Amino acid sequence: MPGTPGRTGRITAVETYDVRFPTSRDLDGSDAMNPDPDYSAAYLVLRTDAGDGLEGHGFSFTIGRGNEVQVAAINALRAHVVGRSVTELCADPASLNRDLVGDSQLRWLGPEKGVMHMAVGAVVNAVWDLAAKRAGKPLWRFLADAEPEWLVSQVDFRYIADALSPDQALELLRRGRAGRAERERELLRRGYPAYTTSPGWLGYSDRKLTRLARAALADGFTQIKLKVGADLADDIRRCRAARAAVGPAVRIAIDANQRWNVTEAIAWTKALAEFDPYWIEEPTSPDDILGHAAIRAAVAPVRVATGEHVQNRIVFKQLLQSGALDVLQIDAARVGGVNENLAILLLAAKFGVPVCPHAGGVGLCELVQHLSMFDYLALSGSTDDRVIEFVDHLHEHFVEPVRIHRGHYRAPRAPGFSAQMHPESIARYTYPDGGFWAAELALTAQEVSV
Ligand SMILES: [Mg+2]
Repeated sequence: MPGTPGRTGRITAVETYDVRFPTSRDLDGSDAMNPDPDYSAAYLVLRTDAGDGLEGHGFSFTIGRGNEVQVAAINALRAHVVGRSVTELCADPASLNRDLVGDSQLRWLGPEKGVMHMAVGAVVNAVWDLAAKRAGKPLWRFLADAEPEWLVSQVDFRYIADALSPDQALELLRRGRAGRAERERELLRRGYPAYTTSPGWLGYSDRKLTRLARAALADGFTQIKLKVGADLADDIRRCRAARAAVGPAVRIAIDANQRWNVTEAIAWTKALAEFDPYWIEEPTSPDDILGHAAIRAAVAPVRVATGEHVQNRIVFKQLLQSGALDVLQIDAARVGGVNENLAILLLAAKFGVPVCPHAGGVGLCELVQHLSMFDYLALSGSTDDRVIEFVDHLHEHFVEPVRIHRGHYRAPRAPGFSAQMHPESIARYTYPDGGFWAAELALTAQEVSV
């Protein structure tokens, strides 16, 4: 009942959308394991009757087929969300996080991994978007302004307390605040360092690779990344071309997207060592903690990076405990949302491992920039050897797209988590009934019948 005390200010709806972009046509995003991705979002909007016109937006990222499964998983969480008090929810997103992760029946589909956990992340991130909007702050500042005690209350320490206790987390956050004002000035002036993957997709010709690598250099990037792992002779040729294009000073990371066995990863990385790769990313299965440790020991000084497919804080804990990582790559939309990423950032800080987020896809750059900026202001205190991935794809579909200047992410100023897509983009690319897909599918049906 509008206006009735206690009855308004509640979540009234969780709307979901299956949004898919036809990126496979240009081989944008192609790598050794994912040759033809259609970058997609299982997208949701939290609506309220608070009367302030604010909504929470969030999404999971997928690469096409199965996005309907991801949407169904978000829909399965709806009953936990609708009817909740907006004020209470935004004051303590961890309360919802606990309820979603702890649903006694849905938990069987995980626990805390895969489609269901990504759905939890999408919903939780939408709540953080709403909370930051209500506070009138971009999420990075909302987090950096928060009291360390409150941030600790937002972390689920279950299964990680042996590596990081709440007291240790509190200490890290208290220490992390020192010098924050100066760092914020630096962040606003210069931005947060980025690297670009745009030159290095596996489906691109050597000519396109060389052109885009030179363009990256001219744009002020000091690191690029190449996809590898399909064919060694091709990789040697492409790494040589990239190194020739950018010279010795620019870092070239390589990314195998889980293509290899452990021994193969070691041999292949060593075969590319003459091109001075900065890190080898996802050399093998994201679940193979000891395999990553063995690869790291064998390929040093090439660093080992992983995280975009690491399913939760518990696996990250073990990667860190076993010395399997040089670079930790959080993803804003794979784990259980901001709450779990706070846990992972704290674990990385505890073990002294730099965080270089995975981004690209649809909207992952928009989201994860907030987490790195918080990390810089309130936890790690440094951008040394820290870069956020940047891919120049699909930003035009967002209301607050990332802005890159001289190889750096500009700090977003608009309140929220930068998660909101334009309604026209959602309408056009909703699968299978949006304008774009309806026309495509009609065309395909016609071709089949001819
Ligand atoms: Mg990758």
